[in-house]
Amino acid sequence: MKYYSLRHQSPPVDFRQATITGQAPDGGLYFPETIPKFQPGFLRELHGLSKATVALNVMRPYVGATIPEADLQRICAEAVGFEFPLVPVHEGVFSLELFHGPTLAFKDVGARFMSRCLGHFAKAGDTPPVTVLVATSGDTGGAVASGFLGVPGVEVVILYPSGKVSPVQEQQLTTLGQNITALEVAGTFDDCQSLVKQAFLDSELAQRRFLTSANSINVARWLPQQLYYCFAMQQWPAEAPAPVVAVPSGNFGNICAGLLAQASGLGLGHFIAACNANEPVPQYLRTGTYTPRPAVPTFSNAMDVGNPSNFVRILELFGHDLGRLRTALSADTVSDADTVAAIRQVWEQHGYLLDPHGAVAYAALRRYQAQHAGAAGFLLATAHPVKFPDVVEPILGRAIELPAVVQALQGRAKRSVPLAVDYEELKAYLM
Ligand SMILES: *Cc1c(COP(=O)(O)O)cnc(C)c1O
Repeated sequence: MKYYSLRHQSPPVDFRQATITGQAPDGGLYFPETIPKFQPGFLRELHGLSKATVALNVMRPYVGATIPEADLQRICAEAVGFEFPLVPVHEGVFSLELFHGPTLAFKDVGARFMSRCLGHFAKAGDTPPVTVLVATSGDTGGAVASGFLGVPGVEVVILYPSGKVSPVQEQQLTTLGQNITALEVAGTFDDCQSLVKQAFLDSELAQRRFLTSANSINVARWLPQQLYYCFAMQQWPAEAPAPVVAVPSGNFGNICAGLLAQASGLGLGHFIAACNANEPVPQYLRTGTYTPRPAVPTFSNAMDVGNPSNFVRILELFGHDLGRLRTALSADTVSDADTVAAIRQVWEQHGYLLDPHGAVAYAALRRYQAQHAGAAGFLLATAHPVKFPDVVEPILGRAIELPAVVQALQGRAKRSVPLAVDYEELKAYLM
């Protein structure tokens, strides 16, 4: 498999090169040259396969010959080594719980897969020492920190917006130490993301450090997200109509992976991109005009993205055909007030606790179902509610019990380096 740059000014590369460099030299995102089709046997037998086997089947064509089969098998098994239950919420609505990994958010699978691939390439002596430079709106940082902790030959530098991530999220990125450094930026996630983008385009810096990204622009983080949708379909009744899929969306990497799995033949139905007040994509689907905007803060902070980096991949997947895109995908905007109302209603009426991101998807799914009677589906519950106590605990009326992985971080010293929204300051730090 080769990957081409969506800006078409750099040569195509293999999976190894795309993983190591993150972004193409021309600043474009890498995109697979062909969309592999899942084998009919794979789809027929999906319900009975192990998660590791599913992962290997899905990832093999993308990885090609760059990682030997036995190594890829181990990497796949380690990346998906926890549960992904599809839990009934009530009639017609299921919740695909993606928060049972080490940092309690869905980004664990992509981060674990990518870190192990990069670790493999580093061990093979194929790369100079690598610095993973990543901007986080909340959950990426923790997942990347946990996934890369102690990986030899890889240093991790994480930029996060000061005061705009939850306490648990901050602990997950600032308390690990070792090869992980957190830069606390006096700005928004978009500021962090644009600082990172500048660093990648800086040729002087590139001579000092070999930089790569672990945001979902990196194919090794983006592509394994297809697995969630496969795991959901393993649990969806074989005879039932294709499910509607509601995805809480920020940078649009996760939903784009779902659309890719669908293009490969997975029997998913209509997609809903569930957004908070940051709505360039819902607006684009309504009007045909795409206008990036500065991010505004909301309760679902991991989705506070004003210019989603993966949206160009969705456009590419649909051949830049707005009509086709509108048929496959709708997008909706859910306010903070409606998010809280959804958490409260689902808790009080069904005894199921959503986090703010899952609640955005739930609200968008219910609005869609109100227009399409009988359309059953699932939402992606992308984070554990314990990561958002300020929103969830007043509704619950008590504290949420901390899962063991979070308890282990309590009381550990926070270590972060303050940074202004100033590229020269970041550069000085990295030089
Ligand atoms: C990152 C994240 C999202 C958004 O995913 P994208 O792939 O950026 O669209 C949604 N929910 C949670 C909890 C996240 O951490």
